[in-house]
Amino acid sequence: MILTDTHTHIYSEAFDEDQDEMMQRAIEKGVIRFFVPAIDSNYTKAMYAVEEKYPEHVFLMMGLHPTHVKANYKEELIHVEDELKKRFKEGVEKKFYAVGEIGIDLYWDKTFLKEQQEAFRSQIQLAKKYRLPIVIHCREAFEEVFEVLELEKDEKLFGIFHCFSGTIEDAHRAIGYNMKLGIGGVVTFKNGKIDKFLDKISLDNIVLETDAPYLAPTPYRGKRNESSYLVNVLQKLSNIYQKSEEEIAIITTKNSKRIFGI
Ligand SMILES: [Zn+2]
Repeated sequence: MILTDTHTHIYSEAFDEDQDEMMQRAIEKGVIRFFVPAIDSNYTKAMYAVEEKYPEHVFLMMGLHPTHVKANYKEELIHVEDELKKRFKEGVEKKFYAVGEIGIDLYWDKTFLKEQQEAFRSQIQLAKKYRLPIVIHCREAFEEVFEVLELEKDEKLFGIFHCFSGTIEDAHRAIGYNMKLGIGGVVTFKNGKIDKFLDKISLDNIVLETDAPYLAPTPYRGKRNESSYLVNVLQKLSNIYQKSEEEIAIITTKNSKRIFGI
């Protein structure tokens, strides 16, 4: 069984003590493809390091995370563009597979809403320039995110709505903008809500993710999350869709290949 974790921060400080063991545990469970979102320039070096360490397994994204959009966001956006440029020169073997994670987060702090919107929109344009998917982080900001997507909607806009936690209407809207829904630990939570309607959404629109080290699925809720726990998300989806785990692994990995091109 091949599983794809479409969103995992394996370079996080949370894994400083046991990164190799954590990777091994995941690989043993069949999680062999790790798509790794960026946060800001402070983490770029650590991201390149995990890519070098696990070259067959790790696929990097580049972007500025909405909770890290601060007064210096313009410099950060230049960093994002510079890194993208470097890797899309002819002859460079290593690539980025998405612009992410990008979006709007109004849960933690609303101070930089205008800057968040601007950073989100300009990074969508970057993704289009390099023909890459986007990976969206949206927290308490569905209307604000959809507003930007509406402005940027065209045939080049596609990607993943990461850690999808909205209503069924939000799900249909996101899919309407050419997004897949990234489903992770929230689907296993008692009050997570999305488990109630997910069976109405075709599996063709679903990819799996952990968002490790955050949002661990039941029974690890509240603890450090890691990519091997993707199997707990898989089990829950197998219940919801009444399909075997193998079948869901095949479909969601196929969906991830369609998005990331690998
Ligand atoms: Zn994330």
